[in-house]
Amino acid sequence: MTLTSVGRPTRPHPAISEGHASLTGGRGLLQDEPLLFELGGWDKTGVDLPAAEHDASDLGGLLRTTPIGLPGLSEPETLRHYVRLSQMNHAIDLALYPLGSCTMKHNPRLNEKLARLAGFADLHPLQPVSTAQGALELIDRLAHWLKTLTGMPAVAMTPKAGAHGELCGLLTIRAAHEAAGHGHRRRVLVPTSAHGTNPATAAFVGYSVQEIAQTADGRVDLADLAAKLGPDVAAIMVTNPNTCGLFEREVIEIARVAHASGAYFYCDGANFNAIVGRVRPGDLGVDAMHINLHKTFSTPHGGGGPGAGPVVLSAALAPFAPAPWIVHGPAGLTLVEDARDEAAAAFGRMCAFQGQMGMFVRAYAYMRSHGADGLRQVAEDAVLNANYVKARLSAEMTPAFPDGPCMHEALFDDSWLEGCGITTLDFAKAMIDEGFHPMTMYFPLVVHGAMLIEPTETESRRELDRFCDALLALARAAKAGDTERFTGAPYLAPLRRLDETMAARKPKLAWRPEPTTVAPAPLAAE
Ligand SMILES: *Cc1c(COP(=O)(O)O)cnc(C)c1O
Repeated sequence: MTLTSVGRPTRPHPAISEGHASLTGGRGLLQDEPLLFELGGWDKTGVDLPAAEHDASDLGGLLRTTPIGLPGLSEPETLRHYVRLSQMNHAIDLALYPLGSCTMKHNPRLNEKLARLAGFADLHPLQPVSTAQGALELIDRLAHWLKTLTGMPAVAMTPKAGAHGELCGLLTIRAAHEAAGHGHRRRVLVPTSAHGTNPATAAFVGYSVQEIAQTADGRVDLADLAAKLGPDVAAIMVTNPNTCGLFEREVIEIARVAHASGAYFYCDGANFNAIVGRVRPGDLGVDAMHINLHKTFSTPHGGGGPGAGPVVLSAALAPFAPAPWIVHGPAGLTLVEDARDEAAAAFGRMCAFQGQMGMFVRAYAYMRSHGADGLRQVAEDAVLNANYVKARLSAEMTPAFPDGPCMHEALFDDSWLEGCGITTLDFAKAMIDEGFHPMTMYFPLVVHGAMLIEPTETESRRELDRFCDALLALARAAKAGDTERFTGAPYLAPLRRLDETMAARKPKLAWRPEPTTVAPAPLAAE
């Protein structure tokens, strides 16, 4: 059994050839990493503070009586701990990250440089607006780009992620229905392929959720949608392109029937990167759509930084948008903060302050460095790359929707694994040994054993070929009966297969000292 050679020598399988019994707790330049609390003693500190000058009695009854409980580590020990942890995981800065429905694209370093400019990075959210005019202007210009790219008249900038944007959109829709005396509209229709946040958001807002069926070619079943619309439906939530990586060809008709029955059209805009610069959702009849800046506009994602999910709104919904928003006045830019006067219909606020300023700077820098034509090319290249992957992998794997091109994601099912004794999960784990992060697995739920691959526009032909070569070689090995390579994988990751059920059912959320640990002595006593 050998690993696939993708630009590096084929080596014997370590688990078979030797086992790891002779190693002392690290391998391949990586040490086993305990928790920070287990690593340090309690007797050390990374800083050298002078004894407090003031009489402790100044603090009265507030004097700390128990040790503070911080681990005692030197600065290099602390630094190395975090660097080692970072080496145990995969990152977009290390290699292609093919998760679908996530858009793990390169985050240009130029954006980071601009986000660190003192005028943006050192702002305090409570400082007078007269001293933050530049920041407000940046938010205002970003809002202008978002409205222009989507063809929508208004945008709520504050939501802090896609899911938060969905909540903002549905609260806006609920406020609009209530203002029109339609508070009885409390049902939301969601396709079976929807991201889990869609039904979860609708339920959170107090709505009931009903599924819309999907056609054999992976799109919304219009007849089923029409049959389920009724006088109690508040909204439909449709993702476009959808989570199967397909454009909803009937989207204009979907909007028309929804509006004809008095419902609003919420579009999940997480996949906007596939159509930015080519299609304006406002032209399709969308009433509200969140834009994941961390997907479409390259701001860091997941562990890399907070998200941002501004929501563009149609004219019908705009009056109900949450505060704050920016207005141009004689004294420059000001914020409308309170739900009165022009904001009388605002449903409230999504958060304190103005939203994720650091992400706004990054997204705006990304837009300006690409320009309008460049953003359009982003969408075209993302779609081209996905179709390249789909075409190459179809030699061994089965695309879930073989007819016609896909958008920015290539979706495969597991029918090609039939009879191999290997599941989608096993295949994904074997990818780790080949140096690739697995694709999204088992989502969307409508496709059996789904493998959803999103290469994004930032990968070169060479990177895509390395990825496809590895997957094709793995697929051939699976079909040739090399089962162990998959069912035992990963062999080379810092940790092997984890007990995911235990981790989900009985998560350990806090560190507790072993009973034998000596209680730490207070450092300040010296
Ligand atoms: C990512 C995603 C979401 C949720 O966005 P977050 O920013 O992760 O909250 C919703 N819908 C779809 C289709 C997504 O891909």
